Amino acid sequence: MLVCVNLPVIQTESSPNEPPPRDGRAHLLDLSFADFQRWLIEHGQPKFRAKQVFGWIYEKRAREFDAMSDLPKTLREQLAAEFVIYRSDEAAVQTSRDGTDKLLVRLADGGEVECVLLRDGHRRSICVSSQVGCAMGCVFCASGLDGVDRNLTQGEIVEQMLRLQARLEPEERLSHIVMMGMGEPLANLDRVLGALETAKSPDGLGISPRRITISTVGLPPAIDRLANNGVPYNLAVSLHAPNEALRSELVPVNEKIGIDAVLAAADRYFAASGRRLTFEYVLLGGVNDAAEHARELAQLLRHRTVLLNVIPYNPVEGLPYQTPSQRAIAEFRQILESAGVNVMFRQRKGDEIDAACGQLRRNRKPH
Ligand code: SAH
Repeated sequence: MLVCVNLPVIQTESSPNEPPPRDGRAHLLDLSFADFQRWLIEHGQPKFRAKQVFGWIYEKRAREFDAMSDLPKTLREQLAAEFVIYRSDEAAVQTSRDGTDKLLVRLADGGEVECVLLRDGHRRSICVSSQVGCAMGCVFCASGLDGVDRNLTQGEIVEQMLRLQARLEPEERLSHIVMMGMGEPLANLDRVLGALETAKSPDGLGISPRRITISTVGLPPAIDRLANNGVPYNLAVSLHAPNEALRSELVPVNEKIGIDAVLAAADRYFAASGRRLTFEYVLLGGVNDAAEHARELAQLLRHRTVLLNVIPYNPVEGLPYQTPSQRAIAEFRQILESAGVNVMFRQRKGDEIDAACGQLRRNRKPH
């Protein structure tokens, strides 16, 4: 899924937004349950219809108003004249033997984003995008290689969730959501929070906020907004380096923010939410995987209530980075563990399907 003196203003909602739909119909998935109840009341309908319609969409996976058989035909027609449920298309699907499905979603204006379903034991986790491209510029990441095009709308974020849910067997349920797809969720915070409201609502997908994680490069003012929002989502901060110089090299926005400000904002989030923080660390062979880096990292994290999630680099075509050797990974781990840091080495999933977000989109574009 992250305040300091001298902090330059970081624009967190600056990307251009989606143009309005061409046929004039609104995207139903942009509406929260309360928004839709208001719409019904304003149109002379009883508000209990909201429960029916949301039940059809989020529980029974209906794609058309026509399928909503317990609604009066006139209401179904009125809804179909006013709203669309699905606005995008599936441009590509990749499935891997380990139970990972990746979708390339083509948006109404031609933009493309990726989202992923991971099956692991009883878990059905989804990884969802928040922007088309990304402005953060992390040097090892495929999503930001061409910068950011625009923010996703609330409905476009929710639609990814529904498209992935539709891939499950009828008796299966989505259990976890990670905002770890393309884009920086905290640079599109209002829409991400709107979409997650629907994800957690009992009238939406009904997923507990404790099973929802927002991953960020670390934008302190937006982390504070998230803390003030009061919903205890999990926060994951992409650290990737244990010191200022290396972090600014790998995560260029760090130059304007600074590692101390990121850690201080994360600490405030922990104090406000009570949720254990996750720090992510992409291990790049010969770059940030030395024993000295592990020791520095242990110094930063040992007195904090955190989970350190170490992710061996997923190679991106055209980038000069490498997955570290098994020996380097084992030594890195051993140093952190013996320093008492709670560390998890993420298993690689979906390797054969361009699993690092941004890769599927890139590999299909001429570049
Ligand atoms: N902008 C958010 C979400 C981005 S993606 C953030 O920075 O957290 C989620 C995680 O995947 C981030 O930690 C990101 O740095 C990492 N990541 C990006 N490219 C990767 C790659 N090629 N291999 C492994 N992890 C990668």
